[in-house]
Amino acid sequence: MREGVILRCVDCKNENYITKNDKRKEKIEVKKFCSKCNGHITHKQKK
Ligand SMILES: [Zn+2]
Repeated sequence: MREGVILRCVDCKNENYITKNDKRKEKIEVKKFCSKCNGHITHKQKK
């Protein structure tokens, strides 16, 4: 079953994005724009 995963900003912990994780064993880590931090911050998959 494929579920959406939440990507959370490592700085402000805001949950900014929802994506899909095809490789379920690996945690997603991407640099994306955070409106709260006003810049590109690493977003990590929320467990
Ligand atoms: Zn942020």
